[in-house]
Amino acid sequence: MSEKAEKIKQLFNDYVVPSYGRFDLVLDHAQGSYVWDADGKRYLDMGSGIAVCSLGHAHPELAETLAQQARKLIHISNLYYHEGQGRLAQEIVSRVGEGKCFFANSGGEANEGLYKLARKFGNETGRYEVITALHSFHGRTLAGIAATGQDKVKKGFDPVVEGFKYIPYNDLKAAEAAIGPKTAAILIEGIQGEGGITPADPVYLAGLRKLCTERNILLLMDEVQCGYYRSGSFCSFQEILKDTADGKSFLPDAFSMAKGIAGGFPMGAFWVRKPYADLLGPGTHATTFGGTPLACAVARKVLEVIERDHLAENVRKVGAVIKNAVTEMAVRYPNVIEKSRGMGFMQGFSLNMESSVFKRSSATPSVQFVNALTENGMLAIPAGASVVRLLPPLNLSAQETEEALTIIEKTAKEFNKG
Ligand SMILES: *Cc1c(COP(=O)(O)O)cnc(C)c1O
Repeated sequence: MSEKAEKIKQLFNDYVVPSYGRFDLVLDHAQGSYVWDADGKRYLDMGSGIAVCSLGHAHPELAETLAQQARKLIHISNLYYHEGQGRLAQEIVSRVGEGKCFFANSGGEANEGLYKLARKFGNETGRYEVITALHSFHGRTLAGIAATGQDKVKKGFDPVVEGFKYIPYNDLKAAEAAIGPKTAAILIEGIQGEGGITPADPVYLAGLRKLCTERNILLLMDEVQCGYYRSGSFCSFQEILKDTADGKSFLPDAFSMAKGIAGGFPMGAFWVRKPYADLLGPGTHATTFGGTPLACAVARKVLEVIERDHLAENVRKVGAVIKNAVTEMAVRYPNVIEKSRGMGFMQGFSLNMESSVFKRSSATPSVQFVNALTENGMLAIPAGASVVRLLPPLNLSAQETEEALTIIEKTAKEFNKG
């Protein structure tokens, strides 16, 4: 690392709360699917800022929209109406089903809205409990870490917010058994992200829907990472269920969004189904920055470009190419890659945890592999100790895909050799 980059790192050491485990990389600028570090080295970005930069970096139309809207109206608060928020809500509703949207600023905050919705829904009957899945991730707010089915995010932050309970994912019987007199909702990710790229199976989703309807509890979904076309459909449940009998009729009662929603501009949101859409009445929920004219303008442009450039199709097609190629690599390098996981552009692969090739360092296999990919010119993101995530921009080209696969293979080969 150059002196210039070291100096930037030193600023973090001196002045920034050290709550993140950061890679040893100082990034400076980006274009499309590529980012450059402070020393001028280029990387293919297969992480998109954790599934955020859905149109890649420095997209000219997003940049232009930001500049134009900034000159017209950045922020007015939610004391007033403005066209952008109404139109964006309409756009989202048209892609899902009858309902309404609330706008926030992050995934954690969007999920907070879901917990409040569940509590408001159950309040009159004394129900407040939200059942979530083991290995889930729902954000780092106090209720978010309570909702998250992983102990590591809760450590040191007792007492945990009350009213959350965990079940194994993709286990319908466990869900049924967990519902009690205090249960107001079940919340799951359509595809678990941080937990290691695990899609819900279609039978599980359809079963949960039926169960929640029968027991009069809300089915909530966290689409923060897997939503917004990352799966190949607008919502992951649409993609997961598309070839099933429930595909057309399935809807959760509410779901959260964030990450890719505004292509890198901070925004979160939730959609809530018609009979519950007015549960959170005036004065019950609010946020100063939610759905600003600026955020809404960018988010609408993101949807426009995705639609115009047929990016959902690109995600489905290229996602299958990546999946097949990684599956073949797992056969060629079983010492390194265990198997491919995921769907669309929420891809990943698990590493062989037993293999001696990962015993040479104390870092987790996922971090070792991601570090080696970085060395070879590509960014990817670990999920837990064993999984490497690929969350490329939705407009990743065929040529960039080839480049990514070449780098993954080269890296696997290097580990294999030792
Ligand atoms: C990232 C993420 C969150 C939290 O979003 P923030 O914007 O970091 O608050 C919540 N749920 C899921 C599934 C996520 O991937």
